[in-house]
Amino acid sequence: MPGWRNVTNVAVSLGTNAGNREANLSAMLTELRRILDDPLAFSRVMETEPVDVPDSQVWFLNVIVSGNYAGNAHELLCDCRTIEHALLRKRPFKNAARTADVDILLYGRESIGSNELTVPHPQIANRRFCLEGLRRIAPGRYIAAHGQTVAELYERMPASIKQQRIIFHGMPDQSYFTME
Ligand code: AMP
Repeated sequence: MPGWRNVTNVAVSLGTNAGNREANLSAMLTELRRILDDPLAFSRVMETEPVDVPDSQVWFLNVIVSGNYAGNAHELLCDCRTIEHALLRKRPFKNAARTADVDILLYGRESIGSNELTVPHPQIANRRFCLEGLRRIAPGRYIAAHGQTVAELYERMPASIKQQRIIFHGMPDQSYFTME
């Protein structure tokens, strides 16, 4: 059918806690806008305390983005890795500070468990910023692994997760989309 494309609504998490965080976030958002189509939705910019990291690290800037993607989940993973590489992400050791972290949180309503991809993302309910961002842009999305919607997971967030510290900033504005 001419002009017809099969698209899937996806949610992606962006994070950066090394180098120039604002510039890194700008670059990630600009690249994501090239691969995701409307309806695009963005969470606020959240500055979050690193969780489960082996050393003392700078806080992250995080944004959750949802939009339509015209490809399969492994193609989306490939696009996420390309964005990380473009920002010179290095992996000196597990959970090292990083210029760019682009993770797939949701791919439609699919549950995927392959060698290189787990969707919904296994940490989705363990990271407060994920639930804070998703509840604004995909509250009704059902997370099969937890048998609950995003809104329900948010409402029932355990105290241990709720205590992860976040400074809420504004929506990503035009200044975040000006990178060439
Ligand atoms: P990270 O250290 O968070 O960048 O994750 C590294 C690897 O996790 C990636 O190269 C992927 O193969 C794998 N992975 C598994 N599930 C996901 C997911 N939902 N989103 C992104 N990466 C994932």
